[in-house]
This record gives sequence, C-alpha cells and structure tokens, in this order.
Amino acid sequence: MGPTHAMSGATAGLVMATLLPPEWGGPTSIAGTFVFVSVTAGAALLPDLDSPQATIARSFGPASQVLARVTENTAQLLHTATRSPKDARRHNGHRTATHTLLFAVLTGLATGAATTAFGKSAAIAILFVTLGLALRGLFPNWSKKNDWFLVTGLAAVLAYATWTQLPESASPVALGAAVTVGVLTHLLGDMITKRGVPLFAPLPIGGRRWYDVRLPSLLRITASGPADRLLLAACTAAVLVLSYLTVFDPAALGIAWAGR
Ligand SMILES: [Zn+2]
Repeated sequence: MGPTHAMSGATAGLVMATLLPPEWGGPTSIAGTFVFVSVTAGAALLPDLDSPQATIARSFGPASQVLARVTENTAQLLHTATRSPKDARRHNGHRTATHTLLFAVLTGLATGAATTAFGKSAAIAILFVTLGLALRGLFPNWSKKNDWFLVTGLAAVLAYATWTQLPESASPVALGAAVTVGVLTHLLGDMITKRGVPLFAPLPIGGRRWYDVRLPSLLRITASGPADRLLLAACTAAVLVLSYLTVFDPAALGIAWAGR
C-alpha cells in the first residue's frame, strides 16, 4: 500500500495546490507546487509509522525501524489506556493513534510550530524526512535497487536545495498544511480498505472511543489486491495530467502564477 498512499498523497497535493490560498499554505509558483506535492506524498506515509513492516519503517534504515517499533508500542499503550469496555483489545498499535483526525491536525501544527521556533534547521529536517519518504513511495523500484543510504543522501541534498532555492515553499504554514493534507489522504485511503480507521478517536461514538469509520462493504477494497493496483494507476494518471497542466496550462486549473 505504500506506493498507493504516496501517489494518492501527490494527487491530493496537486489538487490542494490549486485550491489552498497562499495565506493557508498554498504554493505561489510552479516550483513551489512541486515542493508542496512532494511533502504531501511523503507525509501520506507517516501514519504507517505504527507498523514495522510498512514502507516508511524501512525508509531510513535502522533509525526508522526503531522509530516504528516505538510508535507501534506507544500507539498500543494509548489505545489500552483510553479504550472503553466496548472497544476490542488490540494486539498491536497498527491503525490506532496515528490514524485519527487528531493526528493529522497535530502533525501539521507540530510541523508549523517547529519551523517557526527553529527556522532553517527544522525546515530542512522536515523536508529531509518528507522528501525521503516521497522518493521511497513514488519510486519504489528505483529506491529498492539502491541502498537506503544513497536514497537518504539524495533526500538530504534535495532538502537543502529546496531551503536555499525556494525558502517560501518551506514556510511554517506551507509545510504544516502539506503535512496535514498528506496525512488526511492516508486516512481516506485506509478508510476505503477493509478495516477502516478510528477517525474521530478519542471522541466516543456509540460508547466506543476507537470506533472504526469505514465505507459500506460494497465500496471497500482489499489492501494490495487488484483494486489497490487500479487505484495506484488512477492516481499516477491524475498526477501526470495535473502536473502537465500545472506547468504548461495553469489557466485550465484556474491558476495565474504571479512568478514562475
Ligand atoms: Zn495506514
């Protein structure tokens, strides 16, 4: 599901780039749009940090493996500590705390706050992580062929170049908005797969704090089945079309770039 999450994150990023006003973090240039889209694509992998088997856990070698274990265990502890008697026990933390609207909002706010407080170093660190994840998710075959430290090195170079060449695309509000959009896209993607996600946790619904929100069974698809591949193909096509329009025919999207 990793590549599908990343590609749907890129699609959502391209759509939001045309809809979000600049004061809400919307990009103001073509280059800024692609930074925004890369961050949404990478952030769309973040919720699965609660699963040591996921793409994200393998993205930065041993460091992300350890972080995934810690996240999984913390998420399970949170679930155990807050669940109501009606909530089923969980044997691991997957699809709990990091699969909520609260997580989507908090990660965006934390991104904005860190960039405001620490400036350059925080912006580069956030770009490094999200661009690295975008490389993994959007180009899975390429990054599988190369050692994780080569992909990691490329992410570092891209992050630094973005900060020096396009500082406005790494502003607190732009990075925060892109991270939240990416996480929300992941939640939507998981909702249309079998189990659903506890979108509104810890708000109680029908006596449960971890009520899984899911689509009617007819509309649900099986993760990594043929429907997942179809979704990946559809998102890839959407990304190609929207990217083409962004660069060559922005008027068709209702955008008039002030700069380039
Ligand atoms: Zn997930």
